[in-house]
Amino acid sequence: MTPPKSLIRRTPWPESSSRPVVTPLQPSVVYASASPDALDAQYDGRAKGYTYAREGHPNADVLATKIDAMEGGSGGIITGSGMSAVAAVFFGLLKAGDHVIGADQLYGRSLRMMREDLPRLGIETSLADPTDAGAFAAAIRPQTRMILLEVVSNPTLRVADIGGISALARAHGILLVVDNTFTTPRGFRPFEHGADIVLHSVTKLLAGHSDVTLGYVVARDPELQAQITVTAVTLGLTASPFDCWLAERGLYSFELRYDRAEENAARLADALSGQPNIDQVLYPMRADHPDHNRAVALLGGRGGNMVSFRIKGDRGAANRLVEAAPNIAFAPTLGDIGTTLSHPASSSHRALTAQGRAALGISEGFFRVSVGVEDVGLLIDEFTAAIAAAG
Ligand SMILES: *Cc1c(COP(=O)(O)O)cnc(C)c1O
Repeated sequence: MTPPKSLIRRTPWPESSSRPVVTPLQPSVVYASASPDALDAQYDGRAKGYTYAREGHPNADVLATKIDAMEGGSGGIITGSGMSAVAAVFFGLLKAGDHVIGADQLYGRSLRMMREDLPRLGIETSLADPTDAGAFAAAIRPQTRMILLEVVSNPTLRVADIGGISALARAHGILLVVDNTFTTPRGFRPFEHGADIVLHSVTKLLAGHSDVTLGYVVARDPELQAQITVTAVTLGLTASPFDCWLAERGLYSFELRYDRAEENAARLADALSGQPNIDQVLYPMRADHPDHNRAVALLGGRGGNMVSFRIKGDRGAANRLVEAAPNIAFAPTLGDIGTTLSHPASSSHRALTAQGRAALGISEGFFRVSVGVEDVGLLIDEFTAAIAAAG
């Protein structure tokens, strides 16, 4: 190799007739072109190539292509977080005067966008119970342009009537957007149930190791996708190469992690139910879940990795439970390879009044578990001990 004439000049990449087996990490923000003609060809779409990382880069494209394949879409984009995926859909497709209906138990920040940010910009919003298609029918107006749903709600794990709501959306020409973060394409494929747009917080189960925040959006219609993509690029909602690279590494084990975590969740739910201090266990595949029949029909037996439960007692009991389980991360996230525990009354649902929480069944003794891939016997022992210590 010839040494460069200045340390500031980049050394040419060493030649190799063999290739790396791992996806290379490409952190370059800018890409140099051979000539103005070559650059023109690229901008015109006559030649392939990258120009500037906010507009696109190889690590984002590699990751997006994999999630596209899982969702059965094409041309999806990676964003810097799940919330930037939600923002790209809203700001890419809506205008002042439009109306959006959202599920009333959406992820907290999505709810905030519905309640505060969209109305501030002249976009009207309504919230409705997604287990009741009739409530969505009643909320439809002539200006309704979009419906945003999650398949399984946080933290009470109610299952949306996607069939009923998707039929309504189709009949009224309303775009159906599904946030598939909880269910993942391994548990549910929204395009097969009438969704027009699918989005994810890749931060959670897909990346799986709590070391990146990323999102993803794909639209079935390429024109809608183009509008979402140009908005994401313009608002700078796109993602860093390193995060995309880490998330792709996470995807290698996604299917194994998901299946194992789901099996663990089902066994943990069964082991917890019937314990003396437990009031209720929520898991969609259990016969005592309020939406069990819909869960079986819609999710085909895939209950996912989330389990919620309610113990008897107040905040003191909740503190004792968490303190008695020091090896289970008490953290308001989900989808990590390891089990994490969250307490909605002090985190995601702290802004509600006690009555507002009670209406959702979220008491001080309510916990949500994102079950990981540990040995399930260990998990059952740890939770059993912690629940006993709380009582
Ligand atoms: C976490 C989450 C989001 C937001 O994703 P971030 O990556 O944290 O921005 C959106 N929807 C659901 C269902 C989530 O769980």
